[in-house]
Amino acid sequence: MNCPYCHRPAQFLTSLDYYGRDFGTNVYVCIPCGASVGTHRRSKRPLGTMANAELRGLRKQAHYLFDPLWRNKLMGRKAAYKILRKMMGLSKEQAHIGMFNKGQCLVLIEILSKYWNTHQIQQTTQKEIRTMFKSENHKKQTDLILDLLGEKPFDQVDDTFYRSFAYVAGAVNKFNEIKETLSLDGIDLDQLYEEMGRFSSSEKAMIRFAIQCFNGRLDDITLPQVMHSLDSENSNVIKEAIGIRY
Ligand SMILES: [Zn+2]
Repeated sequence: MNCPYCHRPAQFLTSLDYYGRDFGTNVYVCIPCGASVGTHRRSKRPLGTMANAELRGLRKQAHYLFDPLWRNKLMGRKAAYKILRKMMGLSKEQAHIGMFNKGQCLVLIEILSKYWNTHQIQQTTQKEIRTMFKSENHKKQTDLILDLLGEKPFDQVDDTFYRSFAYVAGAVNKFNEIKETLSLDGIDLDQLYEEMGRFSSSEKAMIRFAIQCFNGRLDDITLPQVMHSLDSENSNVIKEAIGIRY
């Protein structure tokens, strides 16, 4: 085998000779270029083409993004490699990351990074909606409240105070009644307490707990007091809110 960088014949060494440790494999090496490729076990059959440090790093990154497709059972291994062939326009023999050049690695890394970005966000979003919200309306009201407070939607907001407040207040389903009390400056508590006067006792308990999530010093409603007046759905909301806030 010749080195693809300087085209001189590569040396064939055992892993023990090259690395000083026996990995049960052999290695083709070009010492001047630092290029190498391992073999299948102790055979002479290379795992791919020789690569320098940069290319080895890129191949590792490509594997890191590609392998979870089949390792995490999102699809079978065969299906994953079929997609790889189609995406990269390669034959069965060519579709091995160990044979990729720098440009191919970069293309694959870009495609898979995009894929994982959207895929993971979708997964979290769906999971959060499923496990955390009573209904689509609860989610909608939570996001409307966050919007008035100048925050991003629930899935993206980092501030745990606003996040937990909006989540609990949204569950009360009284956005139209409380929207005047919310602004970019925060929550107008006097006005909110006044508005709350017209709410049922469980709605009041929820709002008071929401305020406490926002600022622990502002209200002193205890957990038993809140839970006492709530049905199981809203009790779950409170439990989730505690998870968000504390
Ligand atoms: Zn070389």
